[in-house]
Order: sequence, then C-alpha cells, then structure tokens
Amino acid sequence: MKIHKNIKDNIGIFLIALFFIIVTIGAVSYTKEMLKNSINQNKENIKEVTLQISHNIESKIDNYINELTFIGSKAELNDKKQIQISTDILNNKVQSGKFNKVLVLGLDGKGKNNLGGDVFLKNEKILEKTAKSSKPTILYSSKFTSYENDVILYSVPIENNNELIGIVVGINDMASITEKLTSGIYEGKGCSYIIDKSGDILFSRHRYNQGANLYDFLDERSIDNAKSNYDGDGYWDVKGEIHGKKSYFGFSKIKNTDWYIVTSIPAKNILLQIKDSAKIMISLLIMVILLSLSICSYIIRIQKLNEKKIMKIAFRDSLTGLMNYNKFVSEVEEYLLRQRRKQWVLVCFDIDKFKLVNDIHGYKVGDEILKIISNNLNYYFKGDIVYGRLGGDTFGVLLETKEEFEIDEIAKFIKKNIGNIESTKNFNLEINIDLSIGIYKIEDEAINIKKFIDNADMARLKSKETRYKEYIVFDENMSREKKKILQMERDLFLAIKNKEFSIHYQPKFNINTGKIVGAEALIRWIHPTMGMVSPMEFIPIAEKTRFINNIGQWVFDEVCKKLRCWIDEGIEVVPIAINLSRVELYQQDLVDMLEFGINKYKLDPKLIEIEITESTALNDIEFINEKLSGIKALGMKVAMDDFGTGNSNLSNLKDIQIDVLKLDKSLLLDIENNEKTELMLKSIVDLSKNLSLNTVCEGVENMSQVEILKGTGCEVVQGYVFSKPVEVEKYKKLLLRNIN
Ligand code: C2E
Ligand code: MG
Ligand code: MG
Repeated sequence: MKIHKNIKDNIGIFLIALFFIIVTIGAVSYTKEMLKNSINQNKENIKEVTLQISHNIESKIDNYINELTFIGSKAELNDKKQIQISTDILNNKVQSGKFNKVLVLGLDGKGKNNLGGDVFLKNEKILEKTAKSSKPTILYSSKFTSYENDVILYSVPIENNNELIGIVVGINDMASITEKLTSGIYEGKGCSYIIDKSGDILFSRHRYNQGANLYDFLDERSIDNAKSNYDGDGYWDVKGEIHGKKSYFGFSKIKNTDWYIVTSIPAKNILLQIKDSAKIMISLLIMVILLSLSICSYIIRIQKLNEKKIMKIAFRDSLTGLMNYNKFVSEVEEYLLRQRRKQWVLVCFDIDKFKLVNDIHGYKVGDEILKIISNNLNYYFKGDIVYGRLGGDTFGVLLETKEEFEIDEIAKFIKKNIGNIESTKNFNLEINIDLSIGIYKIEDEAINIKKFIDNADMARLKSKETRYKEYIVFDENMSREKKKILQMERDLFLAIKNKEFSIHYQPKFNINTGKIVGAEALIRWIHPTMGMVSPMEFIPIAEKTRFINNIGQWVFDEVCKKLRCWIDEGIEVVPIAINLSRVELYQQDLVDMLEFGINKYKLDPKLIEIEITESTALNDIEFINEKLSGIKALGMKVAMDDFGTGNSNLSNLKDIQIDVLKLDKSLLLDIENNEKTELMLKSIVDLSKNLSLNTVCEGVENMSQVEILKGTGCEVVQGYVFSKPVEVEKYKKLLLRNIN
C-alpha cells in the first residue's frame, strides 16, 4: 500500500527524470554522431588537401624533369666521348628561373655547369642513383658541394643510342617545392610537409619540423595504423602526438620519389569547427536540465504542500482545529526536552455528562460546546502554551507551575474560563456544564508523554468519582489502583474455571420471631495473589467486560444446586435473594436462563428472589418492567435493593413491578440519635406497606437499631447484628438450627 502510494506520489518526478535521461542520451549521441561526422568530413578534407598538394608537387617535379629531359635530348658526344650541350641552353633554364643551377655530367662525374665552368662530382649520390636506375631521380641534399642551404637535385639520364652516357642535374633550393606545401589550412593550425621513407621530415613550411622524424610524433599504434591503412594513393585515420597535441594526419606518396606528403591538423581544431553546433547542443541540454529541474522542484513543492495538508489532517483535530492527540504528544515532548528544568503540570479535563448533553440536545450542540471550549483555549492559552483535544470531550494542556499553590489556581482558572460556554454570544441554550479536571505533576526523569497523559487522565476519572473535589492531582495509588483493576479485568475471565468464586449467604431475620425468613447470596472471589476481593470492586469491572453475565449464571446455578441439595436432605429452606446487575438485566435470554435453572433443579420459583438496585430499577422503567414481569411470571419475587441511595425518580416507585423494598443501610446512619431519621424511615416503611410491598432493612448492626426498627413496622432485618454473610456450610447449620 505504502509502496504504491510512494510510486504514485513520485510518478511525476520519475517521468521528468525519464524525460531528462532520454533527452540527455539523445543529445549526447547526437553530439557524438555530429562529432564523428565532422571528424570524418575533416579527414576527407585533409585527404583531399594532401592529394592536391601531392599532385601540385608532382606536376612541378614533372615540369622540372621535362625541362631536364629536354636539355638531355640536346646532348651530343664529342670526339673525346665527352657530353656536349650548348651553354646557352643550360643557362637559359637558369635565367628563366627554372633552376638555380644546371649541370651536365658524364658517368665519371666530370662535366660542365650552366656557366660553362668545369665540374667534377665524385661519388655523388645523385649520379650514382640516376645511373643505376636510368630514370629521372629527385634527391634531397643538405650538403651538396658548395651549397650552404639544403637543395633539391633533379636529374635525368642522358642516353645515346640507348646507352647511358651521363646525367643532367637541375639544382633548386627548397622553396621550389615547399611553396606548394600549404600552411594556410585550418586557420594556419594545419600544415603539410614532405617526409622520406624513414619518416624524416625533409621539407616543411614550419621550420621547427624540419630535420625531425614524423614517427617521433606518432605513437606506436598510430604508426601501425598508418602502415596498415596505406592504400598506395593516400591513407588516413592516423592519429598521433605533435607538439603535445593530438593531431590527425593525411599521407600521400609523391610519384617518382621516395617522398610522402603529410598533412596534419590538431584534433582540437576539428573540434573547434563543431564548436557552434556543440554550443547549441549544450545550451539545449542546459535548457532541458533547467526545465527538468524546475518541473521537478514544482512537483516537489506540490508534494510538500500536499504533505503539509496531510500533516494538517493527521495532526489537527478536524472539528476544533486544535492539535490532536498525536501532535499534542510530540509537541509536549519537544517542549519538555527544551525546557527540562522548569516545573510542569499536565492537565486533562473533560465535560461532565457530555454524553447526556449529546443525547438530550443532539450532536450539533455537543460539537458547538467543544468548539467554544477550543475557542476559550485559543483565547487564553494561545502563544506559548501547548494544548489540544485528546479525543472525545477530553482536552489536554501543558502548563508551567512555579509554586505548588498555582495548581489550585490553574484548576480554578480552567473551570471558570475554559469551561465557560456562555462566552459565545451565539450560543443561547441554557446548558450548565462542569469540567472534571485531572492534573499530573511532571517529576519523572524519563520523558514518557503518553504515560504523563495517562496519569493526568486517571486523575480526571478519579475526580468524577469524588464529586466534592474541584480537581484531582495524580498520585501513585491511582496508578496502583489502575494496575489492580487491569489485573482483575484480566484474571476475572479465569475465575470461574479456576473455581475461585464462592457464595456466602447472609440470612434475613424476622425481628419479631427471630427466625430466618430468607437469605441473600453474596459472591466472594478469592484471587490467587490478591486474596479476598470485594464484589464492590470486581462487579463493576465485570459489568464493563460483560463477564458479569457468566458470573450471574454461575451464582444462579450454584444457589439452585444448593437449594436442591438441602431440599433433598430434608432441610427446610427459605427463599434466597440473588443480585442481578443492570447489565444482566439487559441480557436477552435472562428469563429463559432463570426458567432453565428452576426446571433443571426442580425448584419452587418462590425460593428465588431477584434483587435489582434502585438506580437500575427506577431508570428506563418501561424496559425494566417488561423484564421484571417476565421474571415474575416465572413465579419469582423481585426486590429493589439499596433503596435510598440513588437519586432516582421516586414517583416511579408506584409503577415498578416489585415485591420487596430493601432499605439501604445508609438510611440508618444516625437513626439512634436523630428522631427525624426514625420518622423518615417509618414513613418509608408505611409507603412501602401502602404500595403492598414487603420491607427489608439491611445493614443493621446493633440491637438499638433493631428496637427502633420494630417501632417503624419493618419486620425483616439483614445485618451484622444477627449474622454476617457466612460460608455455605455455616449457613446450612443456621438453617438447621432455624427449624429446631
Ligand atoms: P448488596 O446487594 O446491597 O449486599 C449487601 C452488602 O452489604 C453486602 O456486601 C453485605 O456484606 C453488606 N452488609 C450486610 N450487612 C451489613 C452490615 O450490617 N453492615 C455493613 N457495613 N455491611 C453489611 P458485599 O457482600 O460486599 O456486597 C456488596 C455488593 O456487591 C452487594 O450489595 C451487591 O450489590 C453486589 N453483589 C454481591 N454479590 C453479587 C452477585 O452475585 N451478583 C451481583 N450482580 N452483585 C453482587
Ligand atoms: Mg443485594
Ligand atoms: Mg443492598
């Protein structure tokens, strides 16, 4: 789920990233392709230039050779078998600027120059080579006779009757060729030069290249490459180092020579040529990056806003806009961590009987009240105080207290101002609300906000029990009590199975005869570690978990079983009263269950009396009456227990279908020294008689009370004065004694 949500959230960013990657890959491969094309184009260009230069040089050389061949054709042999050529012819070629010097030599190296002077070239390479090959020969010489500069020697063989008789040599300086070598390509960065077979650079427009060897500039791979690529016409795709820069080279052989034309251009210059396109590509890429980034940041911003919204939903209470429980916890934690040294109290409060407000006035009014309280909190505490709605009608506030007495002031302030719903003019319903306040003084070393809130809340709940107190400050007993309650809640479920329950019987006596006329079954729980637990403690817990239904069933079965037993033993039994709690009365199959027990143990239903408390009986009277009539239809009697304790509507007494009124012990409290109490009790007994009810007074502890009761007309008494609730066997003995 979470993964899906993340994917959904980031799909925008994912698509942008994908777009960005595709565009980048596209741009890079386009640039690469463009670069490759451009390099190929440039290679072609350089190959063209190289071939062009070599053609130019070749035609220049051809020209020189033709000139010399012409001279050679004019040669004759004189009587002494010496070559004779007119000095004019020779000189003419020099004067016309074709050559610097022209020599005619015999095979022995002796001959004439263009000025008619004698020449003797012994062991000269040019003579040797030309004679050997009998072909026009071109040679480069750096030390030719008296020449200071490097020269080029062009020579053609002279033949007579197909027999070699000598050579004609034209001498020219380097410029005669190098002028054909271009240096103007690639904005002067490219250059061409002539190398010989061994790679020695013979002619170059750049003087610094002269005398160097080309292979010094090429790495080994490039040399191999060059050799393998050579196609006789010109080869290409050779890369090497020249002056520390990577360069491309074009090669072409010059016809009739052992020379090659080489053209080189630094790779950098090729790249420069595609500079503009690259610039466009780069700006395009930058634009794509910027676009992608801005879309991404837009998406992230939208997401952040959404997150904020979600956070607001997650951390704010939608009705009041206050912090919710989670946010309150984290805020309080942050506060306490920041300001540990101060003394803090955590206040939890809720609205008394808020459920009743909702039930009577509707949820809208309930919501309105919650909003007014929130507004009050905002009004009085906004700023530096942490407060929030913890759930339902419970609110929490973290406050600083410097002195102990301030706690009292805080509680009063909250009751008076925060709980003041009249502060809102629009709210004109006459509802009185009161707050229950629980306070926890934070003294713990370890910060555990949830525990702090629980403690304050525990105090709040306690304050509901002790109505006479304005507020309750948490103490450790509450926590112990709560723990005990939790343990009881847990252990109750096993109590029946573990046989931890037993029943005590408290007899009811007729004070005039002294005879037992009935008894009340009172449950006892012997907890394995807690010992005897009073029903006053565990019955409310069992009611909460509804385990009371199981308990009630067990008690009823036990009582029926015992009655059957005693009857079978021939004991004269008296009716036994069984307490039923409010929850039990709401059980759908209660009457069936009672009927089943009666039938199972074949008992006279008159032997069972059902006790329900005053507060249960006199509230929701219609429903209760319906239930009671079902019980009474079985033949059982019904008693109203604890009469005089509840604040129920007394007028309901005439309508409720009961047989017995059990007066609570609290009605006897000061009966011995307060005549009014006696009078009141007598009136109640009279009322009971008038309503045709039997009266039982419980909690009678001494004989003086008994005597007073005699005067009121109450005949049946249940109390310590005659017997405490006793174990089953003891009760049996009392019964046996009762007969005798
Ligand atoms: P109750 O039904 O009003 O029972 C009478 C209570 O008063 C008993 O307390 C009894 O021990 C006590 N009592 C009797 N005579 C005197 C006296 O002279 N002086 C004083 N101070 N107390 C006296 P107990 O047994 O602790 O039971 C408390 C309550 O627990 C019962 O009040 C009843 O409401 C409930 N209860 C007991 N057993 C059961 C049960 O099996 N089912 C249900 N649902 N509730 C039960
Ligand atoms: Mg009772
Ligand atoms: Mg009672």
